[in-house]
Amino acid sequence: MLKDEHIELRKSVEEFAREVVAPVIGDYYERGEFPYEIVRKMGAMGLFGLPVPEEYGGMGGDYFALCLALEELARVDSSVAITLEAAVSLGAMPLLRYGTAEQKERWLPKLASGERLGAFGLTEPGGGTDVPGGMRTTAVLDDGQWVINGSKAFITNSGTDITAFVAVAAITAREGRRPEISTIIVPSDTPGLTVSKKYSKVGWSASDTRELSFTDCRVPEENLLGERGRGYSQFLRTLDEGRVAIAALSVGLAQGCIDESLRYARERTAFGRTIGGFQAIQFKIADMEARAHTARLAYYHAAERMLAGLPFKKEAAIAKLVSSNAAMDNARDATQIFGGYGFMNEFPVGRFYRDAKILEIGEGTSEVQRMLIARELGMDA
Ligand SMILES: Cc1cc2nc3c(=O)[nH]c(=O)nc-3n(C[C@H](O)[C@H](O)[C@H](O)COP(=O)(O)OP(=O)(O)OC[C@H]3O[C@@H](n4cnc5c(N)ncnc54)[C@H](O)[C@@H]3O)c2cc1C
Repeated sequence: MLKDEHIELRKSVEEFAREVVAPVIGDYYERGEFPYEIVRKMGAMGLFGLPVPEEYGGMGGDYFALCLALEELARVDSSVAITLEAAVSLGAMPLLRYGTAEQKERWLPKLASGERLGAFGLTEPGGGTDVPGGMRTTAVLDDGQWVINGSKAFITNSGTDITAFVAVAAITAREGRRPEISTIIVPSDTPGLTVSKKYSKVGWSASDTRELSFTDCRVPEENLLGERGRGYSQFLRTLDEGRVAIAALSVGLAQGCIDESLRYARERTAFGRTIGGFQAIQFKIADMEARAHTARLAYYHAAERMLAGLPFKKEAAIAKLVSSNAAMDNARDATQIFGGYGFMNEFPVGRFYRDAKILEIGEGTSEVQRMLIARELGMDA
């Protein structure tokens, strides 16, 4: 059962998505432009501070509130939803969990208001699944500063005009075969940090994704996030949480496909009747509803365990796996229901189709989710 405050939040984000995002996002998407004005309005609503305590300018809510907001946004558009997801779950949450008092005071109020965005740099051009095997970025202490060299690939929110920093996972020592990994906060204006131009992407076209390179990039020793050598366990925790959020976003996309299909099936006619009268279309929509419903229950359950302080790794992986499948399947079916118009960018379902695929890749591929589930069942890695 949702609490009253969750129901109210869901309603206000649903209205915002319908009235503010829906009318304009298609144009941003076509232009591949970051929607600063929408992000500013999301900030004014408090969405970037949902799970951040009030003492840091947040709303003092919980992570489930963030998930509900992501679901409602993604019903209409995934670019704005992933901008929020990455900013909060990958940008603000690690700072909240591991940051020093000074780091939190310096960064969190601006992140919570949406005035600035934090990014999380884990993936490298040589590999995102095999971390630390594919990691080459290093950070060496020299005269009270970390000197960072290397590169990161596909980093969300890392090159906007309002990006505050990238939290970079880097190898800080090598002991035998195992590298020591630590997380270091690199402010976006640091000399030696080069932000590449935006990738041309299949989907999420109104979101910001960049490759970053670090050449003798120096930041103060105090920019270490949490304990030295704890980077690996930090990002495992961050990704477990992030998977619940991505699951919520995926459910939103799956639901958006149902919303659009129901509307279209009632309007479009063929053979003298609305296409919604054909059982073939009804069955498609019934399957879409069943997928979205079960995926929603899966992410609610994972979030509930997480907030209760119970182990939730397996539940988060299940939620991410089934909800990204649901999003892909629903996007395919919705596009089919729209016929030729489904292939036209003027209809949201075309955007949903392009946005669905990444959900099976980002924050751990579907193969990774299966590996995590199998491991939690006691099977050897
Ligand atoms: C739009 C976008 C935004 C992103 N944002 C961020 C971000 O903000 N921060 C960040 O750090 N990263 C980000 N990523 C990176 C994303 O998390 C990685 O792309 C993802 O984890 C996969 O890594 P990879 O691309 O290197 O694929 P690889 O690791 O090279 O995997 C390639 C294929 O091999 C499979 N594979 C690998 N190992 C195994 C195995 N042991 N068993 C079975 N199959 C295996 C994978 O499942 C996949 O199918 C983003 C990516 C995209 C596309």
